[in-house]
Amino acid sequence: MARLEEYRSIVGSDTLEELALLARPLAGKSVLNVNSTAVGGGVAEILSRMVPLLQELGLDARWEVVKGGEDFYAVTKKFHNALHGDPTTVTPKDFQVYEDTLDENLTRLPLEEDFIFIHDPQPAALVKKRRALKNRWMWRCHIDLSRPSPAVWEFLKPYIEQYDACVFSAPSFAQSLRVPQMLIAPSIDPLSDKNRELPTTEVRDILERLGIPNDKPLVTQVSRFDRLKDPLGVIEAFLKVKPYINARLLLVGGTADDDPEGAQVLAEVRERAKADPDILVLSLPPTSHVEINAIQRASAVIIQKSLREGFGLTVSEALWKGKPVIAGAVGGIPLQITHKHSGALVHTTDGAAYWLKVLLNDPAFAQRLGESGREHVKQNFLLTRHLREYLMLFHAVLNPGTDMIRL
Ligand code: UDP
Repeated sequence: MARLEEYRSIVGSDTLEELALLARPLAGKSVLNVNSTAVGGGVAEILSRMVPLLQELGLDARWEVVKGGEDFYAVTKKFHNALHGDPTTVTPKDFQVYEDTLDENLTRLPLEEDFIFIHDPQPAALVKKRRALKNRWMWRCHIDLSRPSPAVWEFLKPYIEQYDACVFSAPSFAQSLRVPQMLIAPSIDPLSDKNRELPTTEVRDILERLGIPNDKPLVTQVSRFDRLKDPLGVIEAFLKVKPYINARLLLVGGTADDDPEGAQVLAEVRERAKADPDILVLSLPPTSHVEINAIQRASAVIIQKSLREGFGLTVSEALWKGKPVIAGAVGGIPLQITHKHSGALVHTTDGAAYWLKVLLNDPAFAQRLGESGREHVKQNFLLTRHLREYLMLFHAVLNPGTDMIRL
């Protein structure tokens, strides 16, 4: 696991000094992160890197996962889709399953740390314990909340308003709430297995081991098999331009413990992929970080055609590797891509098809987009910036209503 010192050559000494300065007054404070899965998806990806670095900075940071049965994950996936604007019907029984499961978790989790950092809606109602405690609670929402279904949002809102602060990834997700809202974008770790530099020989060996041929340029989408990532739309876009390009499409995904819909979506994708032998579908275990890294590096173009997206770490991961990215203009993606400067933003399948043709037929332009994207990620979406903003958040919730905090 990378130590902070190893980031110096990437982010510079000032950044590390600032982190040390911000962390010093917080030394010894305990921080408990709670989410709903230990592996799979962006939240687990970030926590696995963030928690050790907070520890290295002197905070007593830990990470717990709420436990629930299949019924709980079915309900929270419904919540997830509904908060993303899907008109799913949520029943009173669903709300009951949610409350009962979190009540069971409350008997197991003392939640007495100085800072309780709750990630996403799944564990949000744990805050009901808060009245009995004197610590600080933060709700970190990683999802695209720009058009939430009122039924689910109105159910969650009274819980959210018991937190000391909420954190959203993009300005368009802000809500009308009685508690302070902060804007903190997620990040990628440049030194993790997912993102570190890889020798070309290792990239080649990994692709060979995975059975991915290298005779044609690769167009890749890396995503959980989730309808909101629009894997069928990616296939449709690819098929539209197939006669004009020489490329192979690769859809790589895995499952997350808290996502019960993955298997069904994967089956639909496999069925649709039969349309063309140049479409490959690969399901990998959630720990395949170096494999994903190699696949992203081996790709000519990365696509992330999401229909809704909290942030989309896969976009920054690809840009960091200097890749041209075509991505849905939704949620947190436009924070990462400026259209025609650091990637291509699309609204439709036709748009994705058009940009596939442009980028595959003009590699020099594609390379320029990737290079600008890498610089943008370096300036804005690396883990050290994220860490600095979390430390500032801790100071802010410890000093509510204060204009100036002396370090
Ligand atoms: N990911 C992975 N294996 C997969 C699919 C995704 O390791 O098969 C990783 C991906 O590289 C990224 C994270 O899971 O780090 C997904 O985060 P993102 O914000 O893109 O989407 P989320 O899954 O959180 O909606």
